[in-house]
Parts: sequence; structure tokens; C-alpha cells
Amino acid sequence: MNSLSSPSHSESPSLGAKVLPASVNFHLWEPCNMRCRFCFATFKDVRADVLPKGHLPEQEALRLVDVLAHRFKKITFAGGEPLLCPWLPDLAKAAKAHGAITMLVTNGSQLRADTIARLRGVMDWVTLSIDSISPETHVKLGRAVQGRALSPADYVAMAEGVRAAGMRLKINTVVTQLNKGEDQTELLRALRPERWKLLNILRVEGQNSGKVDGLCCDSQEFNAFVARHRALEGDGIVLVPEDNEDMLGSYAMVDPAGRFFDNAEGKHRYSAPILAQGLDSAWAQVAFSMERFERRGGLYDFNGRP
Ligand code: SF4
Repeated sequence: MNSLSSPSHSESPSLGAKVLPASVNFHLWEPCNMRCRFCFATFKDVRADVLPKGHLPEQEALRLVDVLAHRFKKITFAGGEPLLCPWLPDLAKAAKAHGAITMLVTNGSQLRADTIARLRGVMDWVTLSIDSISPETHVKLGRAVQGRALSPADYVAMAEGVRAAGMRLKINTVVTQLNKGEDQTELLRALRPERWKLLNILRVEGQNSGKVDGLCCDSQEFNAFVARHRALEGDGIVLVPEDNEDMLGSYAMVDPAGRFFDNAEGKHRYSAPILAQGLDSAWAQVAFSMERFERRGGLYDFNGRP
């Protein structure tokens, strides 16, 4: 099991931080067409309590992106599944108009040639979430649309489409009991991402609690998965492993309702809405540790080589 109470090895996240990190994740869209059991961004609480549609109206989202792009160097558009949002390209365009680097995190189900064409020129990076070399394992994990998972060949074709459109590629993989023994070297060599983020499955109260029992890995299991793939660095792929402590209080994150949130205590804590409260005042209402942000490799040359 993961332990959120393991001894801290770095500065603990604290409330009232004044300095902003270089990047922010905007989880703009709660709806998703997949049902990953470990998903720690389900936002069912947000939808039930404050935002029945699961996203801001288009104009409000654009205003929010304007505010974020003035203060952060990079905006990562995440969800839910952000490609279900019809105005995603407009949000990315607005961010780029203010000089921000843009990144998408997607499950790939909607990443067709026409979608890639709409993102061309406005999205700098595409992060594909892929956990397993086996479609059957993806189905067991819930990384599937109505019980159907994408194949490794589908993902490789997407990776090629992304690169051909001039966008840079990153892969995110969540390590669980179902994929911890896999050797994914061959798939990663075919995908050829610049960065590969490996995340140890994280239990987040109210997001995935009750669904991840039996899936969690201890640090030894997670580290063994990372070690098995270290040789990929020789292929020019930067490995970015994040164990559970690295993930707590180390991100600037905005929820679908336009509020900062943190996970420092193993569950979401939300600020007041950024557009109503002002960015600095809302930021002071969540916990963050710059040391953890830097330790997990959050600061890299977004424009240059990783
Ligand atoms: S695809 Fe992403 S947002 Fe959707 S359920 Fe899976 S982890 Fe969550």
C-alpha cells in the first residue's frame, strides 16, 4: 500500500506561498470517456457541489487562461479528457498569445488526424497517457472507452502524427499492481517521447478512494519498475519518476471550476475562484512546496531540449 504518512524527506508544503512555480496544470474539463480506476482527477465532488456541467463556460475559461498565461511560463491543459472540450484550441491559442508554452495531457482516444491538425501551431507539447503494453491490462485498469482499449500500434501512430505536426511528445505512465512487472522498453523505443513521467499510483481521498485497493505499489515495487527502464535514457528519453511524496503539494493546479487546489494532505483542498478572488489571493489558500516542485523535475527548459 502507499503510505501518505511516510516520513517526509523534503520541505513540507505550506499554505500562503507567495512565489509561483513556472508551470500550472489547468484541469479544464471534468467529463472523461475513460474510467481509469486510479484516476486522481475525477472531480465528482466539484461537479456535485459547484459545477453541474463539469467545466466553465467558454468565455470564462478564456478569461482564466489570460490570467494564468500572464503569470505562468507553461500551461498544461488536463482533465478529465480535455480533447472533449470544443474550445480547447482557442484556449491554447490564447495562452500562446501571451507567450506561454502549452501542453496537453490526453488519453489519446480523440487524437485523430483532424484533432492534431486543429492543435498544430497552438499546442507545443502533447502528453499521451499510456500505462500498459497490453490492451487487456488497459481494460482491467479502466483505460478504455466502453470496454475497448487502444492498441500499442494506435499509440505509435498517434506519436508519429504528433511529431509530424511539430509538437513535442511526452508519455505519462501510472505504475500499479497490474503493470508493475512489465518491460515497456520496446513500446517506449517505438513511441520516442522526449520525456517519460512514471507515477506511482496515488490514493486521493474523495477522488479514487475505494477504487484503488489492491492496485497500490510500495516504493520498492515502483523503484524496480523505474530501474528496469533506466537504459532508455541512452535513447535520449528523459525519465521522470514520481513516487507518492513527490506528488503531494508539488504542483500548481486549477480545477474545472477555476480554483487552485492542492493534494498536500491526501485529498483536494480548493481555493476561492481565481477570477473572483484574484490569482495571488487564491494561490495563498492552497499548500505548495517549491522544493518538491523542483525535486520532482517540474522545472526544465520547456522550450529547449528536456
Ligand atoms: S483518462 Fe485520465 S482523466 Fe480519464 S479516467 Fe483516465 S486518468 Fe482519469
